[in-house]
Amino acid sequence: MRRRAARGKTVLLCPQCGSANIVLVAGSITGQVYHCRQCDYVGSLVFETELREDDPPKDAP
Ligand SMILES: [Zn+2]
Repeated sequence: MRRRAARGKTVLLCPQCGSANIVLVAGSITGQVYHCRQCDYVGSLVFETELREDDPPKDAP
């Protein structure tokens, strides 16, 4: 078996504030629950986006 060749890595974004400061709280039969440390959003809905290695992060200092 081969894994899908993913060039970039997937990051999770908060749907409420757009922060990537998301942690996975729990996984259950209802799905996964995430917690945003930025705005305290808790829920199963998060945005996923891929970062390409050849793309510099836009929010770099
Ligand atoms: Zn948030």
